[in-house]
Amino acid sequence: TRYVYRFGGGVDDGGQGDRNLLGGKGANLDGMAAIGLPVPPGFTITTAMCTRYYEDGGVYPDSVRAEVATGLAHIEGITGKTFGNAADPLLVSVRSGARASMPGMMDTVLNLGLNDETVIGLATTSGDERFAWDSYRRFIQMYSDVVLELDHGAFEEALEIAKEDQGYSLDTEMTAADWKMLVAEYKALVEKLWNRPFPQDVHDQLWGAISAVFGSWQSERAKVYRRLNNIPGEWGTAVNVQAMVFGNMGETSATGVAFTRDPSTGENVYYGEFLINAQGEDVVAGIRTPQYLTLAARERAGAKPLSMEEAMPETYAELAGVFQILETHYRDMQDIEFTVQQGKLWMLQTRSGKRTAKAALKMAVDMAHEGLITEEEAVARVDPAALDQLLHPTLDPKAPRDVLTKGLPASPGAASGAIVFDADTAERRAEMGDAVILVRVETSPEDIHGMHAAKGILTARGGMTSHAAVVARGMGRPCVSGAGGISIENKTKILRVGGRELKEGDILTIDGSTGEVMAGEVPTVQPELAGDFGVLMVWADKVRRLKVRANAETPQDCKVAREFGAEGVGLCRTEHMFFDAARITAVREMILADSEKGRRLALDKLLPEQRDDFAQIFMVMAGLPVTIRLLDPPLHEFLPHGEAEFEDVAKAAGVSVDTLKRRANELHEFNPMLGHRGCRLGVTYPEIYEMQARAIFEAALIVKARGGEAPIPEVMIPLVATRKELELMKAIVDRVAADVFKEQGESVEYLVGTMIELPRAALKAGEIAEVGEFFSFGTNDLTQTTIGISRDDAGRFLTQYVDKGIFARDPFVSIDVEGVGELIEIAAERGRKTRPGIKLGICGEHGGDPASIAFCEATGLDYVSASPYRVPIARLAAAQAAL
Ligand code: PEP
Ligand code: MG
Repeated sequence: TRYVYRFGGGVDDGGQGDRNLLGGKGANLDGMAAIGLPVPPGFTITTAMCTRYYEDGGVYPDSVRAEVATGLAHIEGITGKTFGNAADPLLVSVRSGARASMPGMMDTVLNLGLNDETVIGLATTSGDERFAWDSYRRFIQMYSDVVLELDHGAFEEALEIAKEDQGYSLDTEMTAADWKMLVAEYKALVEKLWNRPFPQDVHDQLWGAISAVFGSWQSERAKVYRRLNNIPGEWGTAVNVQAMVFGNMGETSATGVAFTRDPSTGENVYYGEFLINAQGEDVVAGIRTPQYLTLAARERAGAKPLSMEEAMPETYAELAGVFQILETHYRDMQDIEFTVQQGKLWMLQTRSGKRTAKAALKMAVDMAHEGLITEEEAVARVDPAALDQLLHPTLDPKAPRDVLTKGLPASPGAASGAIVFDADTAERRAEMGDAVILVRVETSPEDIHGMHAAKGILTARGGMTSHAAVVARGMGRPCVSGAGGISIENKTKILRVGGRELKEGDILTIDGSTGEVMAGEVPTVQPELAGDFGVLMVWADKVRRLKVRANAETPQDCKVAREFGAEGVGLCRTEHMFFDAARITAVREMILADSEKGRRLALDKLLPEQRDDFAQIFMVMAGLPVTIRLLDPPLHEFLPHGEAEFEDVAKAAGVSVDTLKRRANELHEFNPMLGHRGCRLGVTYPEIYEMQARAIFEAALIVKARGGEAPIPEVMIPLVATRKELELMKAIVDRVAADVFKEQGESVEYLVGTMIELPRAALKAGEIAEVGEFFSFGTNDLTQTTIGISRDDAGRFLTQYVDKGIFARDPFVSIDVEGVGELIEIAAERGRKTRPGIKLGICGEHGGDPASIAFCEATGLDYVSASPYRVPIARLAAAQAAL
């Protein structure tokens, strides 16, 4: 097996680059080299080697050592420099590059190949002694951190002390002699902390770095990132070894990052930052504040330092040309790293850029209009889950704002929450249900769990491409970065801004679209659904086969669902209507009654209310199917809690509190989820289902009489396990329908069907379909009962199940295709055999999950049903599944 692929200088072993093998970075370096762009020569060690490295317990086959030697010779041949040569040394960078980009997650080592001898060679060949010693100390610092895993604080401290001793405030004031002295101190530090001298053999350095990159694949922060982004652990990372180019060789050198379009808004303008006389990591780390790439951006921001367009017009023009070539070649917005070494432009990386949902949408639609991609590709480009960001409220422009300061609009959307100053607290408070804003000087990959838990992120330092900005955009969290006006005191947990002090727990609002930071909570408004969103949805609907319905039980939810394009209601959970404050007493009276007569009295009070609910829903959903599920939850969920509630019910029912309490005790269940619920309620208390059926048909006739389009009720029986249960329940519904139609001399069409949410029902679907006219898969309960994991208690251990690879994803979020999925396939097949063309849908939470929707498409279901806000997500996911 070949493990090393060379690129640059007219060689591209990988051709157009297989990203599974070469990783994203390696594949694109190869790709850029192949189309003749200026790429420093190098080679990629494949992801397959990473996997083998772990399988073999961290040793390398001899063949790889030989291949790496060939790779080095390739770089040496092109650069004319020799690795480890004291007179004219070759220096390399060693970087990770996984299949899917994992920004900030993996490690990088720069300036590798420097030692006590080669540093002198570098000083001579570059004619810049200061640069050589600065590079050496950077290398020791980075290598000690990433490869030797020594405490990097110690190195930063040594640098601070060195500057203090000399009375400097900036790194740039350090002279060659100062750096040289610091190198000596760094080496002593390594020896002290590592008990061994800093490696002087450049090959030891190289293999140490390669192993560190492979090792970083299993670091905690990489694991967390993979879990959050569903990246499989077995993919592994590639290692890229590349000739160093230097952005820190004086005023004609620079380093920068750029996007071919604005990753925040999607606008078709170049966007980026650069730093003169700096090395790559300086930009990303947010240590110095970078300068704008374009004149327009600088002017818009009212910033002083010259943009690259002004400071280096020729190189800028060349770079802009490269942007065009890359966008046309990769047919997508690119995120680029470049370096200018003494006026010469070098491309260090390109990849499809991370973008906000808003930008993804705009770019997809724009690119289709530009003819760069097709409409179908545009549909495929937008991550359905990311639409979530767009469908949620933004700050009310009319609401008053107490603006504290303004930072950079790093990731759009608005968020309010309690201030927290560290990631662990963010996570803890979020678990308790608090909305929190994570406030940091700058974020690092260690903060990722807190960023995920927070509603929004605010940082004092860092640009638009800082870690916080990139990660927040990827996660869809609103973020304001580089808010220089704030100062943070971590010890006392105080945030100071404009002479004011805010404590941990105080409420803060950030607007990631404008960069504003505000005290207190600012009200929000609903988003605009026209524009690009509307255009993409039209394209999606053209290719979609699955219908999309909504889980909704109020007229308001139904309205939202219709606006979002729902084609019916797939699940109206009638019990939610019972919790209404005005009705709950009657519901309790019904439940606690100890005779049918008592229950009927209470049900009579509920009938007009329920009829009114249904009538309103039918009005909103005019002409569309509405699946109404008869009462499902365990009765105990409705029981009164405190004394006062018991008294209310006692008064309404005309019995004593003691009697009620006794009755409540009788109703107690040990395992209510498998207890007296679902159609078991209808079997034991048929009068409940009778009342509900009556309310449905009377409401349907009311709407019909008003001249509205007749609704199409689909009456759904929950938690059916046997054909007989459904037969009994359907008989009730049909009888009531016949009664109502006779009373009113008018009728409507309707269906009676069942949920498939128990394994037995799935297996016996052939029989059940003899009675049921439609099936709706209740995958919440079906998952619970198939795997035998309680849907209400799973949270405590399921993350571990995912971490340990027992499940690829939480099966309550994304369908367990192999297990639960097989039951669905069995039920669909057996149901169709009995009743060809039987209508099949899904109404569990999975109905809004893109991966599960792909499964539903493959299984040939007729529709998916999701909560109103997820309807557009489902429409897009259904379209993608059909492509
Ligand atoms: C289900 O079980 O998947 C379902 C939709 O019903 P509920 O969540 O109300 O139990
Ligand atoms: Mg259920």
